[in-house]
Amino acid sequence: MDCTDCGRPLAVNPKRKGTRCQRCAARVHATSPEKRQRCSQAMKRRFDDPVFRMKQIRSMATGLKRALDADPSIRDRMREHGRRVGALHKGNLTRPAGSPQRQKAARAQSEFYMGWCPLEYRDGYRRMVRIDGIKAADARRMTEELIEVDRSRYLATAVLPQAARGAGA
Ligand SMILES: [Zn+2]
Repeated sequence: MDCTDCGRPLAVNPKRKGTRCQRCAARVHATSPEKRQRCSQAMKRRFDDPVFRMKQIRSMATGLKRALDADPSIRDRMREHGRRVGALHKGNLTRPAGSPQRQKAARAQSEFYMGWCPLEYRDGYRRMVRIDGIKAADARRMTEELIEVDRSRYLATAVLPQAARGAGA
């Protein structure tokens, strides 16, 4: 049997569902808005699973580190690419600062990086990193220790130390 699009003879492939060769099938898939839509939805569903998401993020970070170790010039190319994309001012950057879209994006980003940290400890953590110049990993460990200390003090005294410390402490 031949491919119904390009006429090349089809190799035997028990998984093939249609009548096109791999190349023609990929072209149809990539140019159909309906198929792109379904593909995008399926990918978003997969990324809703926190375990899958975490695994993807880890594997991306590991791969990037391996690539950077092998060829440090990649970092410069990434920086250049980032500048070019930033200069396009696409996406949320077309919205004015303080617009609902920008606020929503900022909240999502903050949740991504600070999700581990209870709200009342975030200002303290940020101060350690931004003002005291403590490394993020160390600041996180210290904050987690503080949370643990507060918790045991609360269990012993029924007073919330983080509330007594006041806002922004
Ligand atoms: Zn074909």
